[in-house]
Amino acid sequence: MLKFDGTRIKYDYSHCQQCGICEVVCPKQAISLKRLNDGTHEVLVDDNKCIRCKRCVACCPANKDEDYKGYFEEYTRKKYYLGYNSDNRIRHDSSSGGVCKTIIIESLRNEWVDGVYSLKRTETFPYAEGEFYTKENIPTYDDIPNSVYHSVMACQNISRVQKCKRLIVVGTSCQLRAMNVALKGKAEEIIRICIFCKQQKTLESTRFLAKIMGTKILENLKFSPRYRGEGWPGIVRVNESELPYSRAAQIPFGRRLWTVGGCNVCGDSFGTNALADITLMDPWKIRKPNNLGETLVIVHTDKGMQLIEQIQSLKLEPKSFDEVKLALDLKDVWRKQQLVPFFRGENCSDKIMRAGKAEQRQRAMLISIVESLPRMPIIFYRILCKLPDLRNKILK
Ligand SMILES: Cc1cc2nc3c(=O)[nH]c(=O)nc-3n(C[C@H](O)[C@H](O)[C@H](O)COP(=O)(O)OP(=O)(O)OC[C@H]3O[C@@H](n4cnc5c(N)ncnc54)[C@H](O)[C@@H]3O)c2cc1C
Repeated sequence: MLKFDGTRIKYDYSHCQQCGICEVVCPKQAISLKRLNDGTHEVLVDDNKCIRCKRCVACCPANKDEDYKGYFEEYTRKKYYLGYNSDNRIRHDSSSGGVCKTIIIESLRNEWVDGVYSLKRTETFPYAEGEFYTKENIPTYDDIPNSVYHSVMACQNISRVQKCKRLIVVGTSCQLRAMNVALKGKAEEIIRICIFCKQQKTLESTRFLAKIMGTKILENLKFSPRYRGEGWPGIVRVNESELPYSRAAQIPFGRRLWTVGGCNVCGDSFGTNALADITLMDPWKIRKPNNLGETLVIVHTDKGMQLIEQIQSLKLEPKSFDEVKLALDLKDVWRKQQLVPFFRGENCSDKIMRAGKAEQRQRAMLISIVESLPRMPIIFYRILCKLPDLRNKILK
């Protein structure tokens, strides 16, 4: 997170959401990024080059005071679908049902939009980077990465975005918030697709997965993680080793371990505060594992509705709020929102303070156990996963 303290721009790693916008909007190249061992980046500000224009501060998604009052009021009235591409191969090989890739590709092919800013696959860590797509460079389904759970500085190539009439932007809530400022004036209309996100992971999460799979991620970070794509919920693949996602991912994902620091100060998992038109997530808890996959699609606006209902290759099964409620996990997002003041270091009630401290303690304890012990049988990790979440117990 970047803030102006009256004399200089100051950086706070513990609040940084790792979106990469600050480096790209700086008109004097005073900002550089230093990659740390855990795959995240530290932001370095060169005071001599900095002209204190505060563009980086204005774009930084982490320093905005979020208001979560009434956040869940609309949820009973939104439109919900289980969505997937009608081509089983695409559906099978995507993160969930391939809805996001289908929207990007079909919108460009049919010229419903003249630009899309999302990710493209790359060969080196973090295996994805921001890309501006137009009808001149329409991606294939394989060009666009599946969900990358470790942090990606997705906004780093935002300067590639050219003036458009209609522009689609895809990103997690923090990335969308950053783009909202940086892309002002770039398009007559922007359609925002939010990738639902409760937290981005550091590389330690993948290192841990590698360990329980009996393999290692080399120090120079040459590895290829794949968390999805072989059916749903799919498999985790690190190098040549594989484990079913449902077994391998329980500790690193369910327990909020190895989370990017700034994720603690974001409670907008659905991206509604970031003005999302559509949110895409997994229908966990309401679908049994199957060999294909579905995306749980939440449509917030008419603009979002108009876009997806014209896509022929997209199958959309309408669902009621009651049918999808379990998968939305609203209680969990609510708990996250409650803890934001604690992690921001603001005044908060005793209960929030206790819950925040319990979360920190439990997280530190679990990390030290799983990191210090050698590789244990899977049953050991499954038992660890059954330990109750202390944060949840306090916040109920
Ligand atoms: C960090 C992260 C955390 C998530 N956490 C949850 C969760 O807790 N619960 C849940 O239900 N769903 C979560 N998801 C969303 C889920 O994994 C799927 O992305 C979603 O269901 C859409 O599936 P799809 O098949 O329609 O996407 P696809 O058609 O496969 O398209 C994936 C799209 O996501 C974009 N993308 C991938 N990784 C990133 C990234 N790191 N930053 C920005 N854009 C990215 C790609 O560029 C592509 O446009 C998370 C996703 C991410 C990236």
